[in-house]
Amino acid sequence: MYSEHCTNKDFTMKRSSVCFLLVIILFIGIIPPVGADAVEDRPPYYLDENKSRYEAFAAKNPSMPYDKVIAYVNANVDYGPYNNIETIKNPSSTSAMLNKNFILSSDYVPKDLVTLPGGGLLRAEAAAAFIKMRDAANQDGLTLAVRSSYRTFGDQVASYNLVMDSYGRDSAEASVARAGHSEHQLGLTLDLAPMAGLTGPLTAMHFEDTAQYSWLLEHGHEYGFILRYPSAYVHIHNYVFEPFHWRYVGVKIATNMFNEGITTLEEYYGKYLSPAVRMKLRFTHLSRLTQSLPVFPDISSIPPSQTNALW
Ligand SMILES: [Zn+2]
Repeated sequence: MYSEHCTNKDFTMKRSSVCFLLVIILFIGIIPPVGADAVEDRPPYYLDENKSRYEAFAAKNPSMPYDKVIAYVNANVDYGPYNNIETIKNPSSTSAMLNKNFILSSDYVPKDLVTLPGGGLLRAEAAAAFIKMRDAANQDGLTLAVRSSYRTFGDQVASYNLVMDSYGRDSAEASVARAGHSEHQLGLTLDLAPMAGLTGPLTAMHFEDTAQYSWLLEHGHEYGFILRYPSAYVHIHNYVFEPFHWRYVGVKIATNMFNEGITTLEEYYGKYLSPAVRMKLRFTHLSRLTQSLPVFPDISSIPPSQTNALW
């Protein structure tokens, strides 16, 4: 008798567990698959809320592949320089997005700045990566010298004003970030030179013609650095071509960009890093997981003695 009592209790518990499980599955089942696109050829980073902006940006850029249109709109590139400026919420992240649509607070100072050999400040992780990269370049017979590294908000005001006073506002707008928009304030960025002691305008040293530049294009990502303002994407980043300006984003992102042929941080951000995209990708993942759960049998028509055996 004891064993029969035990079996009934056991069965009741199992049956409640089954019901509970079925309620959960039913609940998950009725949630619309948020990440699943109605149109199959939409990439996973397509955001429904940006639909009209995608269409408008595509109309202005008819030769641009649609996946890039989507990515750039997700990165707010369609707003144009210094419009709809957003204050960045993760300034200490090595993948922080900073450009003419994103701004740092004026009092942001990285907490882990260290002095580079030869002077200048950079965040510790980026400095260690640069030293490894510089030593590797050196092994290949090339010198990588630093012209500029971390700059404060105040330094950036001075840089902008200096160029504006010397060359005019248009030149300043094209070649110097307004204060709060400079990646140098992140403490993750270097302006490089093929030798120490060079002076004069950075563009005048034509870093793009040096063996160092070719070496960086091939190996920079191995140390976490990317060319931030490439020549073919001036209409995206809205600066002049800056072959000397290298941004640390970490080896993982830099390598992903290299392998996928993504040449701007804006495109990578719009595909993988924007908070809205990350949220959608997370839901897509969850939705796929729930869809891959095993289908449970309909137990309503099966006698309890047999359903008991199912579990
Ligand atoms: Zn720079």
